[in-house]
This record gives sequence, structure tokens and C-alpha cells, in this order.
Amino acid sequence: MDKHRVMILGTGPAGLTAAIYAARANLAPVVIEGNEPGGQLTLTTEVENFPGFPDGIMGPELMDNMRKQAEKFGAVFVRGFVTAVDLTKRPFTVTVDDKHQHQADSLIISTGASAKMLGIPGESEMVGRGVSTCATCDGFFFRNKKIIVVGGGDSAMEEATFLTKFASEVTIVHRRNELRASKVMQERARNNPKIKWVMNVTPVSVQSDGNKVTGLEVRDNETGQTRVLETEGLFIAIGHSPNTGFLKGQVELDEVGYIKTNGVTTATSVEGVFACGDVMDPHYRQAITAAGSGCKAALDVERYLESSSTHDWSVSAAQ
Ligand code: NAP
Repeated sequence: MDKHRVMILGTGPAGLTAAIYAARANLAPVVIEGNEPGGQLTLTTEVENFPGFPDGIMGPELMDNMRKQAEKFGAVFVRGFVTAVDLTKRPFTVTVDDKHQHQADSLIISTGASAKMLGIPGESEMVGRGVSTCATCDGFFFRNKKIIVVGGGDSAMEEATFLTKFASEVTIVHRRNELRASKVMQERARNNPKIKWVMNVTPVSVQSDGNKVTGLEVRDNETGQTRVLETEGLFIAIGHSPNTGFLKGQVELDEVGYIKTNGVTTATSVEGVFACGDVMDPHYRQAITAAGSGCKAALDVERYLESSSTHDWSVSAAQ
């Protein structure tokens, strides 16, 4: 089993920024790429609010640049998905793809968050056949078709606006009469003539002909009546949940599953384990805040390794 000073789990803006800082501190970080290398920004189009790019930059290009920057300073990338960790004793053990085991003196967890699903009949069966959580990836397949976007937050507004480039009509379906999205995103969607609205309804089931989506059944929250909204594409944009399934019982999580960190630091309930990015931040969830916390995690690790170099953790962990 190989042993590293620091392992970083996840390659979104948090993990890659941590990798740049840890590599520049000569810690030779080993970075596990995860299922979605580059994270959520690889599923987006233009990023207009990342400082330093006055003309915007494409999400995948931004992530590619961050990765190259980390590699330039010596970060090593390993393909695979972390399936288990053992944080009960030092060095920590990280299992990748259920088979390869690594040991690490310290860990930075930056596994991000994944798109939530509605959990209604017909939904999971039709993923890839009309149901999608990524407008950027799948919008192209819905040229001149009617599309539904479910959700009332910034993601739903953004996806709906983006999808009008392809679709003949985009209907935003939301469960309340008020939107959660920021004013600027709402306005952009409201001013788009291709966007229609169906408010205060609850999605009930996804309708299909067995091969492709044909509609979304919704229940009116006031009258209780159901009806089917015809569509060939159903984009679910109702938020995200943290990717912490592999951490249960190992490190303290909040009631939703986000990793709890200590004050303004990235320290978790386990000494030597740090968390950054969307996996510990249900509030801001921006590329720049994730990158900032990745920087903090690398600095925290550096200090931890310095202070623990004279300390025999194998003794105190067993106590
Ligand atoms: P969000 O703000 O949590 O909004 C989720 C939306 O989905 C809410 O409107 C919610 O309804 C609805 N929803 C949740 N569960 C549902 C269910 N089971 N059935 C039906 N509807 C459901 O998530 P988000 O839009 O992904 O945004 C997350 C964060 O990223 C926010 O801070 C946002 O500002 C940020 N963001 C920013 C940008 C940008 O600035 N370019 C783009 C995307 C996201 P309720 O309102 O009734 O709860």
C-alpha cells in the first residue's frame, strides 16, 4: 500500500486549489479524481463571475487550467472513485474503486455535491431518455422541442435560459408561487419570450412511451387536480446534496450530510482531516468560495503536518 503525506479527494475548484497550494508547499499531494473530474463547473457553460476573467471563461476550460496548474507544481492525479475511508487510525486509509488502498498522513475532502432528483415514478427509468440534470450536457438533443425545467432557484433559471437556445419552448415548473432565485436571474428568465411558467404545482410522475419522455404529471397545490404537461425533455434543477455517503460514521456530518467544520477553519471532527468546497458549504456554493476554502484546507494541512511531525499519532490515536 502506498503512503502519502496528503491526499485530496475530489477535483472541483476546492480540490484543485488545495492541490495547487499543497503542491507548491512541496507536499506532493495525490488527488483522487472522482466520478466527475473537474466537478460541477465541467457541466456548465460560461462562467462570468470568477475574478480575473473580464470576458468570462468556459467552465471546463477553467477547471482544465486549474488542473494543469496543480500538475505543474507536482500534484499527482489518480483516476477513480473513493468508496471507503478509515479515519479511526493514522495513517488514514482511502479505498478507491473498492480495491486500491492508499494511506495518508492527512486528508482533504472536497467531494462536492450532486444534483438532487425528484424521486417520482418514471424519473430514474428515463434518465438519459429525456430526463436530465445537466442542461449544458443534454440541451443540444432537444432542438426545436418542448422542454420542462423543474425548480425555482438560480439553477432552474439558468438552465431554462440556457435551454431556450435549443428548445422551441421552455416551461419552468415550480412547487410554490414565489421563486427562490435571485432577482437578476428571475428577470433574465422572465424577460425571455420562450419561457413559460407553471407555478404552485407538485410533480407527480414522469410519463413516457417506454422509450422517451412524453410528459410530466403535476398536481395543482390549490385544487389538488392533476394534469399532464406535454414535454420531451425534463430537466431537474432542484438543488444538490453533498457527496458524503462514504464518510458515514467516520467524521461528523450535519443533519443533511454536509461535513461539519470548526469555525473559520477547514478542520473536521477528525484531527488531520480537512474539508472544503460544496461538501461542507450548503450556503455559498460558488466556484470562488470553493476555491477559497480549498486554499484554506491546504494551509491547514501544511500547519497540521508541521505541528504533528514531532508527534507520534499512532500512539495517541490508539489511546
Ligand atoms: P436552491 O437554491 O436550493 O433551489 C432549489 C429549488 O428547487 C427551490 O426553488 C426548491 O423549491 C426546489 N425544490 C427542491 N426540492 C424540490 C422537490 N423535491 N420538488 C420540487 N421542487 C423542489 O438550489 P439551486 O438553484 O441549485 O442553487 C443552489 C445555490 O447555487 C444557490 O446559492 C444559488 O444562488 C447558486 N447558484 C448560482 C448561480 C449563478 O449565480 N449563476 C447559478 C446556479 C446556482 P422551494 O423554493 O419551494 O424550496
